[in-house]
Amino acid sequence: MAQNEALARRINERIEYQRPRNGESADTFICECVRVDCGGVLDLSIGEYARVRSHPRRFVVFPGHEEPAVESTVEVYPGYVVVEKRGETGRIAEAETGG
Ligand SMILES: [Zn+2]
Repeated sequence: MAQNEALARRINERIEYQRPRNGESADTFICECVRVDCGGVLDLSIGEYARVRSHPRRFVVFPGHEEPAVESTVEVYPGYVVVEKRGETGRIAEAETGG
């Protein structure tokens, strides 16, 4: 189940690293939810994404793609939602991102 999230995160990291640092405020990231067929696009800035990523257990997902069984919603914005993994899933997420 964590497969898609890990893939989404790798893609998003590539977007982050390849993007020229030209001060644009908006960027495109893909949803990091657990749905394998998601592919949702999020509207948040590089700075916002970096801030979320500073917490190893936190992910950005499309509004409505939260999975309350394994994660808690910590912040809600018009274009995306920040979720934090709980319990075992959180530990896995933390390990995958290098804690
Ligand atoms: Zn999604």
